[in-house]
Amino acid sequence: MAVKMAVPNKGRLNERAVELLLKSGIDLGEEWGRKLYVTAMEQDIEVMFLRAQDIPAFIAAGAIDIGITGEDLAAESGYKLKKLTDLEFGYCRLSVAAPEASGIKKGEDIPNGSKVATSFPNLTKKFFKSIGKDVSIIEISGAAEIMPHLGVSDIIVDLVASGSTLKMNRLAEVSKIMDSQAAVFTSDQSMKKKGPEITDVVASIKSVMAAEDRKYLMADVPKSKLGEVEKILPGIGGPTVLNIAGNDKMVAVHAVIRSKDVYKAVNDLKRLGAKGILTLSIDRLVE
Ligand code: AMP
Repeated sequence: MAVKMAVPNKGRLNERAVELLLKSGIDLGEEWGRKLYVTAMEQDIEVMFLRAQDIPAFIAAGAIDIGITGEDLAAESGYKLKKLTDLEFGYCRLSVAAPEASGIKKGEDIPNGSKVATSFPNLTKKFFKSIGKDVSIIEISGAAEIMPHLGVSDIIVDLVASGSTLKMNRLAEVSKIMDSQAAVFTSDQSMKKKGPEITDVVASIKSVMAAEDRKYLMADVPKSKLGEVEKILPGIGGPTVLNIAGNDKMVAVHAVIRSKDVYKAVNDLKRLGAKGILTLSIDRLVE
């Protein structure tokens, strides 16, 4: 049974989501950019390109088995979805922001009866109820940050990443409602029907993410220094040590290390007399 997968068709989450699928070996063919849906060439997977905000509803309805979208959109949808993994991109937070000149510094300062413009009416309603404030919500589909200037609202609830858009519009962040990043979601009904296939897709995506963060390091090191080398290269279960034909003083070591540790490891190995140090990128890492 084919696994039906949805990725955002445009916007902030599209590029990286497609990159993760391609790197996972899900072959979308040449034409994917111009199609609404493609069948992967080598796997029993159908990939649909949908609006990020529509993806939760399609998953909940069982029309899609796995979807990549923002946690903010999944939460706003109100559907009971199952998060399979975080994807470590699309980081942002949903926050309440008020005009700098309003003097509002925290949630408690917001007067009852305030007008709040947002494209997240459900999360906004829930948040103000939780802090015991009675506000009126004005649902908009974008450009929340100009609403106070237009007199449409007193405050806004919107996504913030760096905060520069808020600053540009002389708005100050007052209160955070939730943190968000892109994630993979499914439903209980899809897991029941296609659990193993869904798990395989997610494992594949995770192996790509794990590999992006690591390098494969190879070096010839003096046999007498192996103890110290093993401390420098903890690797996954320690480095692999191989004999070098015709050389009984040196051995070859291979190890997988974190990209951030490469600089120090190479310098430390050089100091121990290592030769022929190579680092390579890895496509997949399944631990
Ligand atoms: P789109 O409107 O299609 O560009 O996608 C918006 C989604 O991207 C949001 O729902 C968030 O999950 C995510 N996102 C990440 N950073 C930001 C940001 N700074 N502003 C808005 N959305 C963001």
